[in-house]
Amino acid sequence: MSKPYERVGAATGLLGADGSQRSTIFEEMSALAQAHGAINLGQGFPDTDGPQAMLEAATEAIARGANQYATIAGNPALRGAIAEHQHRFYGLELDPDTQVTVCAGASEGLSATLAALVQPGDEVILFEPYYDLYPAAAALAGATIRTVPLVPPTFEPDLEALQAAFSARTALIVVNDPHNPTGMVFSQEAKEKIVELAQRFNAVILADEVYEHLTYGAPYSPIQALPGAAERTIAVSAISKTHSATGWRIGWMTGPAHLMSALRMVKGYFTHSAAAPLQEAAAVGLASGDDFYLGLKERYAHQLRVLVEGLADSPWQIIEPAGTFFAVADVARVLAQKGFTTAQELCQELPQASGVTLIPLTAFTTEGYRSQVEGYVRFAFCKKPEVLATATSRILAYSAG
Ligand code: GLN
Repeated sequence: MSKPYERVGAATGLLGADGSQRSTIFEEMSALAQAHGAINLGQGFPDTDGPQAMLEAATEAIARGANQYATIAGNPALRGAIAEHQHRFYGLELDPDTQVTVCAGASEGLSATLAALVQPGDEVILFEPYYDLYPAAAALAGATIRTVPLVPPTFEPDLEALQAAFSARTALIVVNDPHNPTGMVFSQEAKEKIVELAQRFNAVILADEVYEHLTYGAPYSPIQALPGAAERTIAVSAISKTHSATGWRIGWMTGPAHLMSALRMVKGYFTHSAAAPLQEAAAVGLASGDDFYLGLKERYAHQLRVLVEGLADSPWQIIEPAGTFFAVADVARVLAQKGFTTAQELCQELPQASGVTLIPLTAFTTEGYRSQVEGYVRFAFCKKPEVLATATSRILAYSAG
């Protein structure tokens, strides 16, 4: 077997056949945005802060001297707040001592779960397009990925392909719901199918729910709550998106005690524990009132309207997302007009030519699926309405020119 970094490089495309190495699509596009002073609708991070009480709790905790290690499991007040959050929004009953672990952002929880529960030779099922961490962490664990297509333009999962992807080698399936990069929210039927197959093949379900509070239709309903799911599901979330604190790196894993103890064993040797004063503050953020959670959803729904209306009747055909702060657009007409064959070429030119940065959907795919989404880009609409309005007018000016 090759060195771990080579496996990661091969699984993500970050390592060229000639040995050349590059950074992730997010860092690459953010650097281009900076170099050209472009509005960054590529890498998804909010341009407003989370609740004031949470920010104040962080500075207060630092000033008070809460600056030494938290435990591996995490600050008890935060674990209590996480269990309370899962009960408040989803009716789930979790023991904060044995079923909740704090980690350094959702990223650490996802990586630790794959590292702890998957071994070389195992298969990990991903829906594609996928967030790039999943194939990277699966490759680190020595697993092989099997992908199930989300079919454009709705990006609903192909349920026959899902069934065909499962086998005796399947160790784990990643369910990112609401889904980055497409904004799709899994239907009840699809989630039930996933649980049924995971039970039949004794696979773990790893649910990445970081966009759980950003749904624009029915309230979010986690896969963990379905019959038969709880004993085999690790759900991962974070304050990053909900509380607009992507840089704090505070996330959590919840799940059955027998899996959680295995995860803690591995996670303790990753970061040991996430930033102690920020864990205290995150507990305050999670306990925010309904006005905060409803206000968040309304703000993002409004930002989505600004994007959709700004690009209405244009060659940038937004496919309205049911969740997340991402929207995919079919840009086939823009490509034809500008003489490009792929959205990848368009996205390379855009920061300089239009003053806006986007991400091509092909950044989240395997070779086999790539051709299906060569004409799509991802917009991150986690920016103030006036920023989005400027961005859409720049984009229209570019494609009119
Ligand atoms: N999750 C964010 C996105 O999809 C940021 C990812 C990153 O920088 N690793 O844009």
